[in-house]
Parts: sequence; C-alpha cells; structure tokens
Amino acid sequence: MAEKIGVYFDLANIGGGVNVQSLADEATKKWGNLIALTKLVPELAKATDEIRADIEAQGLDGVLLCGASPRIDNELYRFAVPVDYVNLREQCVLAYKNPDGSPYIPAATAPANLQQMAQDYVQMGVAKMQKSTPPDSAAIEVTRRILVIGGGWTGLTAAAEAVDMGYEVVLVEKADKLGGAVINMPTASPLGPSWEYKSPTNLADKVAKITGNMRITVYLNAVMAKLSGQPGQYTAEINVAGEVKTEAIGSVILATGWKPLDPKYLEPMGLGKSSKVVTAAEFGKMLLADAPLPKRVAFVLDTTMAEEALKAKAAEAEAEAAAAEQAPQAEGAEGEEKAFVKADLESFAHLKYSNAVNSVGMLRLANTVCEKTADKSQAYILYKNMTVPGILERFYKKMQDRLGVMMTKADVTDIREDDDHMVVECKNTLLGQDFNLEADLVVLPTGLVPTTAKDVTVQFDYRQGPEFPDLELFDGFADSNYICFPYETRRTGVYAAGCVRQPLTLDACEVDAKGAVLKAVQCLEAANLGVAVHPRALDNSYPVFNFVRCTQCKRCTEECPFGALDDDEKGTPKPNPARCRRCGTCFGACPERVISFANYNIDQIGSMIRQVVVPADFKKEGPRVLILACENDAYPALDMAGMRRKAWSPYCRIIPVRCLGSVNAIWISDAMSKGFDGVVLLGCKYGDDYQCHFIKGSEICNRRMQNIAETLDRLGVQPERVAQLEVAIDEYDKVPTMIDNFVARITALGPNPFKGM
Ligand code: SF4
Ligand code: SF4
Repeated sequence: MAEKIGVYFDLANIGGGVNVQSLADEATKKWGNLIALTKLVPELAKATDEIRADIEAQGLDGVLLCGASPRIDNELYRFAVPVDYVNLREQCVLAYKNPDGSPYIPAATAPANLQQMAQDYVQMGVAKMQKSTPPDSAAIEVTRRILVIGGGWTGLTAAAEAVDMGYEVVLVEKADKLGGAVINMPTASPLGPSWEYKSPTNLADKVAKITGNMRITVYLNAVMAKLSGQPGQYTAEINVAGEVKTEAIGSVILATGWKPLDPKYLEPMGLGKSSKVVTAAEFGKMLLADAPLPKRVAFVLDTTMAEEALKAKAAEAEAEAAAAEQAPQAEGAEGEEKAFVKADLESFAHLKYSNAVNSVGMLRLANTVCEKTADKSQAYILYKNMTVPGILERFYKKMQDRLGVMMTKADVTDIREDDDHMVVECKNTLLGQDFNLEADLVVLPTGLVPTTAKDVTVQFDYRQGPEFPDLELFDGFADSNYICFPYETRRTGVYAAGCVRQPLTLDACEVDAKGAVLKAVQCLEAANLGVAVHPRALDNSYPVFNFVRCTQCKRCTEECPFGALDDDEKGTPKPNPARCRRCGTCFGACPERVISFANYNIDQIGSMIRQVVVPADFKKEGPRVLILACENDAYPALDMAGMRRKAWSPYCRIIPVRCLGSVNAIWISDAMSKGFDGVVLLGCKYGDDYQCHFIKGSEICNRRMQNIAETLDRLGVQPERVAQLEVAIDEYDKVPTMIDNFVARITALGPNPFKGM
C-alpha cells in the first residue's frame, strides 16, 4: 500500500477550469501524512525531472497526476514508483455543463458543482493509490520452442519464420507428407509483383526449407494428444503413428486449415447428383491429373440456391423444435442432422459472399483450363459477389481481358442436366438480359469449414475442456476478436493463422503466418517477463486468491473467458498466470470476494466509491450517479466526448474498470449504501456483434444484472436504478445523451431510499 504520495496538479490543462489550490488543500486536509506533498506545476509534461527529484528526496512511494486523461501522453510519466492519474480535463472540466443543461463558460470562480466534482475525483484518486500495491513478479522460465500444428502452406511459412527469428519449432502434420491443400493445386494465384499472373507454388522448395532445418522437428502422421500447462511452459503430447512423443513448448501456432463443406449442402446445385458438377477443389485435381478437359466450363460463384434450401431446412427444424418443445429431442441420425444444419449455416455464410479463396480460385482455375487446352476451352464465371482482396485486383483485371474467360454478375437460379450437357439459368446479368448458359462442366465453390469447427485440434488439458469454446460466435473460425486482435484465440498462447482463421488466399496465408509467429513470440517473451499480452499488454498484475475463504463454488473457473483457471486435486481454483489476460472477470464473479489484484481490487474500488460526497438534499443538489466505465471502449468514448465539449450531467462520477466482467455486485451495494441514486455499467456491446475485448465480460455482466436486480428488489430499491449501457468506442457523440437520459430517469424516480442512512 502506498504510504507517501506526491500529488501534482497540471495547471496548463486544468488551471483555468477549477480552483486547483483548493483541491490540493482539501486533499492534504483529508489524507494527512499519506500525502507527502502537493504541487501545482505550470505544465506537467515539463515537470518530470522535478517529480523524479521529489521521489528521490522525499522518498515518495506513489505519484498521482491530476490533469489530462491517463490515455494522454502517459509514456512521459515513467517513474521508479507507481503512477496513477486523476482525469480532471476530459471527464471533468471539459465535460462539465450546468445542472440546468446550459453550457459552462469558464469563469474566474468555478461553479460549486464543478469544484465538488473535481474534489471528489481527487479524493477518489488518492484512495485508489492508497489501496494499490506494486504487483509481485509473475515471471517464469520459458521454453523458446514454438509448436506449429498443421504442415500446409501456412504452417510451413510459420515454421520457417519462427526459426528465422531464432526459435526452435516442432511441426505436427496429420498426413504422411507436408504441403496440405496446396499439394492438389496446379498453380497458385499471384504471390508477388506484378500481381497479374498465376505463380508456381514451388511447394517442394518450401518443404525442403523445413525438412532440411536442424532446428525444426517434423512429426508426420501425427496429431495432438494433449496440450497442458501455460504459455512459456506447455507440455505437448503428440501421437505419432500410435506412439506418444512429449515436447516442451513455449507457444502454439494453429495452422490446421480447412476441410471441404459436406457436399450434400450443394446438392440443390447438382453436386453429387450429376457427374458434370464438381467443386473447385475437385476441378483442381482434374487439372493436375491431366484428365481430358471439357470445352465449356461454367464457374458458378453464386450459391444462393443452396443457401435458400439450407435455410428452409433450418427453419423447418426450428419450427419443429418449437412445436415439440415438451417432446423429447430428436435422437440419432435425425437429431445430428438438425445440429449439423444449424452449425453449417455459419460456415456456409462464407460461400454466400464468395470469399477471397473462392473468387480468386475461380479466376485461377478459369485461366488454367484455357491455358491447358490452348484456348480451345471457354470459361464462364458467374458471380453474385466477386471478392478480390487488395492488390489481387490486378489479377482480376487481367482475367477480365483474357481471351476465353467471360465473366458476368448473375443470379444463378437453376442448374440442370439436359442431354449431354448442363444448363445454368442466369438472371439479372450484366449483359442486360437473362439467359440459359450451356456448359459441359459446372464448377462450384468449395465450402471452407475451419478444422476447429468439428475437430478438436489442440486437445487442451484445461478445466474448461479440450476444445476452443463458443466458436459459433466466429462462424466456427478460431479467433477471439476479429476487430482488434487478429490471430488471438480464446486460449492465450495459441495463435490461429491461415484458413483456420478465415478463408484466405495463399499470399494472405503467408502474411497471416508471419503475424501469428510474431504474436507467439510476443506471448512467450511476455510470460518470461511476467506481463500480459493483449489487451492489457505489459500489465504485470495478476489475480491472487485467498484460498482460506474460498468455498470452491467454481464460478471463477467457469466464467474465466480464457480458461486460465484449472482445479487442483481438492477442487480449489488453480491459477495459471501466463494464461491470464488480467480482465478481472474472476473477481467480478467471486461471491466471497477472495480474488484481488495488487493494484485493482474490491476494497480499492469500494474505497473510491466511499470518497464521493453525496448531498442529502436530492431536490436542491440533484442526484448522484456512479458510472463504472469499461476502460477499453466506454472510457475512451467518454474522453473523446469531453475533448469535443460534448458535456453530460454534472451529477455523475466515473470510475474506470478493466472490463464490465470485473464488476462485483458488492460495488453496487457500496454505492447504494453510500447514497448514490443510480449506477450505470457502461461497457462494450455484447451478443453476436460483441466488441468486448475480453470476449464475454459485458455479456457476463448482463447475466449478473438479473441477480443484482433481484437483490435490489429484496432491499426495497427499485432495480431500474442500475442499468447496463452499451457503447462502442466511436460513439462519443451518443454517450452524453445516454448518460443524461439515465440521469433524467433517476431524477424522476426520486432519491435512493438508503440516502442518508
Ligand atoms: S477471469 Fe480474467 S483475470 Fe481472472 S484468471 Fe481469467 S483471464 Fe485472468
Ligand atoms: S469464485 Fe471465489 S469462492 Fe468461488 S471458487 Fe472462485 S475463488 Fe473460490
């Protein structure tokens, strides 16, 4: 705990808005010897040497900086002792408006409400620092060896990249040779400048680079049997043709790729019914085998026909389930079929918009068939969406001009056999008319199902089970947050790359593999330093458990979004600090409140809440509303609103939290006991389009709201006094109104019945 704090006020940023001397005097009066000094500095950014000298001379063990948001220029303030911030600029002076809603025009004397708000924030800042301790080190010895699962294009690239960076590699491939899906590809789409022409895959060279490297151990005919431990200290058990090999591993690249969608889903388009309908993958094999090639080939990218049939099937299954809610579940083949339809609808989504692999693949195959037949074949590409990423646009344009390749946007409404050929019915075409295309062969896109969707590829020896959890959120693809953290899975230390992550062309798979290797290296080096990876990169805190009071209720182990907690032999939680992302969801869950971080804990936030001066006269002095704001989206959104002078009610007090998942119900009780009239939990969006950086934090918080509401109801406090509001980081223009609407609701409700008790 900090015992000698220096408090600095940044006059350049807040001097014109509030009475700073009064803030310093009030803090000194309240905290006595805890505050060793207060200083009003003309410009904080220029006072860093002075602060360093004070730390030395006065033996300060904490520095509290009152001025701009902690998100601004914090790199400047790296001292030998812990540093914390009081945000008096963006979320106080700049966000202030008068109680009647009129804008605040800075005056010589700050309005009482603004001065009180600033004072509350300073007192909260001191309390926070008082209850904070520098975390012990969680540094561990690490093994600098990377496990690459999958020996296809992405896995081979990742392995080569990792050894180039100085790490050893263990490569596990389930087949009897390296190369994966590329073995069956006649050529690659462009892999480099000028990005206009097909490229040879040169797979043999890529494989030779791996097999000839002493620092890479390759296991063929091998699958994972178990992965136990934590980043930096994993033990991988690999089943190699029936024999188990054990390897010490630091981190993992998951490059297991894809498998084709069950062909039955493309049956409505003729696949499996007619020998003249094949998938792109099958057609690639025909080209490699030098099989006789047809004269007219229709490449159909529009899969709406199949999708409609699948949707109808899913709707039928859903309606049946709803009608027979009480009836026993369908069993056996029928039950499996329904589950399969539902799961594959998501994978099918990638066919719907003709992903990059299919679009570029069709261009490549069309080109090859023309080449192989010396332009005697005619290729027709019929697409609804042509997805050509980035520079590959140049290849697309080249193919547009290529003799023998004809392409048009078209709705393909029927594919049928007619005598010795196929008829493809095309509507809404770019040619200005509907037509029936005659073809000798129809090539359909290959559905890419990520190998995580049905197969267990890593075999985690984790309490939460051997699979990646909840992959339906990502259409079955292994990722934890597409928007902010590509490569990250929900298992720290395991990074997905290539088509197990999303449908990618070969050039993109190479980039992906290199990105994932960087993450894998970063993770094991972070474990070595005892610090977190994304999103709290370099955070050296970790959850500490007071096991004496643990009731083994297992809520923490179940709710941890990253499976960081196992059970020991007695059933108590067993932390794995290197798996932990420091979100605090476990301590939000713990009913006994026995989990804490040295610098973020239940007592600390409770103490901050208790620092706020809550006026007894609700009518005259207004309500008080506590906002617990997620530091990832909500807090920056509030900062941006403040910077733009988009003010909100002066009756609010904001405390940043690591994630809404870390909000423990006791803080709401603390706020109500203190006399707050309402509490807002301001965090990321949840549900299908969730944006939570810790995956489930805001969703878990929403689930807990039900219990909180029931508790409040029992206490005679209206549950409407607590609300969870969702905000995205770019919704800074909306967040003040959201807050104001809530404050208006609380004002209408009247004072918290506990006020003044
Ligand atoms: S819930 Fe969050 S803080 Fe707790 S163990 Fe899991 S990752 Fe770490
Ligand atoms: S939530 Fe708390 S009481 Fe329950 S198992 Fe975890 S640490 Fe123990």
